[in-house]
Amino acid sequence: MEETSKNIIKEQIILDIKSLNKQIELLEDRTKLIAPDCSQCDLERSEILLDIEITYKILNESKMRLKRLEHALTRIDSPVFGICIECENEIPIERLKINPESLKCVACENAK
Ligand SMILES: [Zn+2]
Repeated sequence: MEETSKNIIKEQIILDIKSLNKQIELLEDRTKLIAPDCSQCDLERSEILLDIEITYKILNESKMRLKRLEHALTRIDSPVFGICIECENEIPIERLKINPESLKCVACENAK
């Protein structure tokens, strides 16, 4: 991969990590919501519980993506970065810009 493309992707990863960290912080605050415990507020209670459940789900996904991005950042200077682990073709730069953590090209990703 060309040095300039690599730098673009590196910057993209760093930006993504920053915004994910911010998002995770906000989500963690949201999981601290406390559902009221009283018979008159059952509806409100179930809404808040659902909200917390969804928040946890997004939080987990965000944390997993963060891990993948951090991993991508450690791999970016290696010669195999941007090479599909299945077919060993180059993963198109456009894909890597959106999904820098991609390990496979679109064809292999969809083949599973
Ligand atoms: Zn492939």
